[in-house]
Amino acid sequence: MAVPKRKTSPSKRGMRRSHDSLKVDTFNECTNCGELKRPHNLCGACGHYNGREILAVGA
Ligand SMILES: [Zn+2]
Repeated sequence: MAVPKRKTSPSKRGMRRSHDSLKVDTFNECTNCGELKRPHNLCGACGHYNGREILAVGA
């Protein structure tokens, strides 16, 4: 069975893990209702996108 010859040093382990962290998702305020929404996505609260109502929300 193939086995690593050397123990991975703390430095090398850290270099490998430098890309592992999760990013926090970005949010922008909806221009219509001010609710936080993902950029380039329909607003979940009022259904507006790009200044127009795309989806009727609520009663
Ligand atoms: Zn909105």
